Amino acid sequence: MKPLLSVVVPAYNEEAVLEVFHSRMSALFDELPDYRCEMIFVNDGSRDRTQTIIDDLCRRDVRVACVNLSRNFGKEIAMTAGFDHANGDAVIVIDADLQDPPELIHDFIREWKNGYDVVYAKRTHRDGETWLKKVTASAFYKVMDKVSGKVKIPRDTGDYRLMSRRSVDALLQLREQHRFMKGLFAWVGFPSKAIEYRRDPRAAGETKFNYWKLWNFALEGITSFTIAPLKIATYLGLLTAVLAFGNGLWIIGKTLIWGEAVRGYPTLLVTVLFLGGVQLFFIGVLGEYLGRIFGETKQRPLYFVQGYHQSAASRDGG
Ligand code: UDP
Ligand code: MG
Repeated sequence: MKPLLSVVVPAYNEEAVLEVFHSRMSALFDELPDYRCEMIFVNDGSRDRTQTIIDDLCRRDVRVACVNLSRNFGKEIAMTAGFDHANGDAVIVIDADLQDPPELIHDFIREWKNGYDVVYAKRTHRDGETWLKKVTASAFYKVMDKVSGKVKIPRDTGDYRLMSRRSVDALLQLREQHRFMKGLFAWVGFPSKAIEYRRDPRAAGETKFNYWKLWNFALEGITSFTIAPLKIATYLGLLTAVLAFGNGLWIIGKTLIWGEAVRGYPTLLVTVLFLGGVQLFFIGVLGEYLGRIFGETKQRPLYFVQGYHQSAASRDGG
């Protein structure tokens, strides 16, 4: 039997773009006669007509499958739900908004045939994105690179990628609640290959990620992936203590030699405020980790499904 390709598409309020996406992806599927292909839409609790459109696509096209989540869980979990329901020998994940050109899948498949388990798309340009987004994204990758130690997260790489069966199976064994997918992809390992491309502007609709969400995403990335901030606290604390000790010695010596009139109120205030600030900041950092531990200890399932439609391709080899 021909190998099965599963294309996972998380969709949240994507009514504007789904039809276009489907026709572009179908055209691509038609160029892959050596494979059975399916696209699995994961409706991540959309509040617009997304589900209606997906239902319609399921009726018209046997290569379409759908997982309808019980509410909005966020893209990371939506992707996981898609992976859970994908039976493909290779699984591809792609955004619904056509910012990632589906045509790249040809290259993905070629490298997969060459023996790579993970083939990911690396952006060389980001058209249609503000300079602020570009700058913040670049800063984020720099920080991640510095703090992430052994596991290297590739720069300028989104979620758009192909994964072999064994790397998907490995990924699915990681069931943590705080799913920073770029980190999880990298952590799993396996031979990987980058394909460079130009990121297009959205075909239609609006981005679902505002700056507050992106900030939280970055925070999630760092805290779910590394304890570097806790280590910084340790060393900063140590450094402050050593400096304070030195300063203490200096003051004692000074007083013994020259005596001391009552002075130094501003110094005192500055020191107290500075140390108070540093302490509060790192209590906050501790809180971030504590909150995540709290979330994980509940051991809840990642998502609930309210409807599932399997594609014919995955069901009976059609
Ligand atoms: N998405 C999702 N759940 C969410 C937010 C986004 O499934 O809560 C999907 C969205 O439908 C799209 C993909 O994730 O297919 C990327 O979203 P978007 O294009 O808004 O992000 P950007 O490209 O601006 O980073
Ligand atoms: Mg997008």
